[in-house]
Amino acid sequence: MTNTVHGNLIAGEWHESGQSSININPSDVSDIVGVYASADSSQVQAAMDAAQAAFREWSAVTPQQRFDALDRVATELFARKDELGTLLAREEGKTLPEAIGEVARAAYIFKYFAGESLRSGGELIQSVRPGVNVEVTREPVGVVGIITPWNFPIAIPAWKIAAALAHGNCVVFKPSELVPGCGWALSEIISRSGVPSGTLNLVMGDGHSVGELLVGDARVDAVSFTGSAATGRKVAASCLARMAKVQLEMGGKNPQVILDDADLKTAVEICVQSAFFSTGQRCTAASRLIVTEGIYQRFLEALAERTRSLRVDHALAQDTDIGPVASAGQLERDLSYVAIGKQEGATLLTGGEILKRKTDGHYLSPALFAETTAQMRINREEIFGPVASVIRVKNYEEALAVANDTPFGLSSGIATTSLKHAAHFKRHSQSGMVMVNLPTAGVDYHVPFGGRKASSYGPREQGSHAKEFYTQVKTAYIGT
Ligand code: NAD
Repeated sequence: MTNTVHGNLIAGEWHESGQSSININPSDVSDIVGVYASADSSQVQAAMDAAQAAFREWSAVTPQQRFDALDRVATELFARKDELGTLLAREEGKTLPEAIGEVARAAYIFKYFAGESLRSGGELIQSVRPGVNVEVTREPVGVVGIITPWNFPIAIPAWKIAAALAHGNCVVFKPSELVPGCGWALSEIISRSGVPSGTLNLVMGDGHSVGELLVGDARVDAVSFTGSAATGRKVAASCLARMAKVQLEMGGKNPQVILDDADLKTAVEICVQSAFFSTGQRCTAASRLIVTEGIYQRFLEALAERTRSLRVDHALAQDTDIGPVASAGQLERDLSYVAIGKQEGATLLTGGEILKRKTDGHYLSPALFAETTAQMRINREEIFGPVASVIRVKNYEEALAVANDTPFGLSSGIATTSLKHAAHFKRHSQSGMVMVNLPTAGVDYHVPFGGRKASSYGPREQGSHAKEFYTQVKTAYIGT
C-alpha cells in the first residue's frame, strides 16, 4: 500500500501529482497508512472545470438515477464497514467500534439522501391575481466546494456530498490533509456508483494550496465548510466577497449541566462520553461540566474515579476506551491548555500526561480540572482534545447563565430528573442542539445538525433541512 500513490479524481480519471503526503497512524507513527497525491493548481482548476461540465447532465438526470447511485454507495459502505472502519481508526485514531460506527453512519446518510432524491416536489399556489398560478420549485445550486476537517473523516464528507448529489449538484471535494484515506475511499466508491464523470471530483492537499483556490473561484457556486472558527471566518470572507453561497460548521465549547436531582451514575456516564470519547475530538464534545453544589462533591469523586479507569491505547486494540490524539500538533495544543489551566489556578484532578504504550503514538491521559471559573481560558477557548473542566455553581439559574456564557453555541446538555428544569433549559439554552439526560455528542443522521453564535453560519446540514443550502428557490408565474 505504501508504494501506491492515491491520486486525485478529476473528470472520472485518477491523477497523481508532483507532490504527495504521507498519512501516518497516530496510534503507531511507524505505521504508514498510505501516500496521497497533493493536487497542484492546474488539477484544482481542471476539477472545477470538470464539475461545471458535468452539471448539465447530473442536474437533469431522473430522481431514479440519483436514487440508484446514492443507494449503491450506501450498500458498498455497509458491506465494507469493517475494512473502512479499520482504515478510519488507523488514520484518525478513534477506536475501532467508534470508527466502524462512523462508516455505518455514512452508509445510512447515503440511504437517507437516496430517498431525498425522490422527494423533490414543489408547491402550486393560487395567485392573488385572477388567471394566474404560482409555482415554487427548487433547483440545484451548481458546483459545490466541500471542505472537511479531520475528526470525522467519512461521516462529514458523506453528509455534505450525499446531500449535494441528491439535490442535483456537482462537487469538488477537499478532505483534510491529515486524513485523506477515508475521503479517497469514499470518492472511489462514488466514482463507480453510476454518476457521470466529473459529478464528484476529489482534490487532496492543504487549505492554503487547495482550499483557498476553491473558495475564491467563480466556478464554485457554493461552499460547505466544516472546521475551526478561525478558518471558517476566512472562508466566509472569501465567499461573501464574490457573493457565493456559504455554509459553515465550526467549533464548540459545549456545556453539560448537572443538577442536584440528577441520577449520579447517568450524569457521570454522560460526562465521560461527552468529554472523553473519540479522544474529546468532537465539535459536540462537552468540555465545561457545570455542577450545582448539592451534588458537586459526590459527582466530582465519581467522575474522577471513572476518568482514571478509562483505558487509553492503540485504536485497534480490543480493550481500548480512548485512542490517541490525532496528530503531534493537536497533542501539543492539548498539553499547552493543560499548562494554561494550571497557571490559571485550576486543580488538575487527573490526567493531562503523555502515556507510553507498546507502539509509539500520541497518547494522552484524559485531563479533568476542578475549581475552575467560567472566565478561565480553558473554559472559553476550544481545545479539541480530552480535556474537561468542572465549574461549581449555586443553582439551576446560575448553571444556565454559565452554560450560555460562551462565544459558541453548538450543543448543550442537562442531567436532571426535574421536568421543569429540563423544559426550561431546552427553551433557553443558546445552542443549536440540546440534550436532556444524554451526552452532548451523538446525533441522528436524519434531523438538522448545527449551532448558533460562533459555531455555525448559514442553513442547517442534514435531514430535509439540507435542501436549504443545496438548492435555490424559483418562483414561476403562469397565466391560465
Ligand atoms: P481547520 O479549520 O484547520 O481545517 C478544516 C479544513 O479547512 C481542512 O480541510 C483544511 O485543509 C481547510 N482549510 C484550512 N485553511 C483553509 C483556507 N484558508 N481556505 C480553505 N480551506 C482551508 O479545522 P480542523 O483542525 O481540520 O478541524 C477541527 C475543527 O473542526 C474544530 O474546531 C472542530 O470543532 C471543527 N468541527 C466542527 C464540526 C461542526 O459540525 N460544527 C464538526 C467537526 C469538526
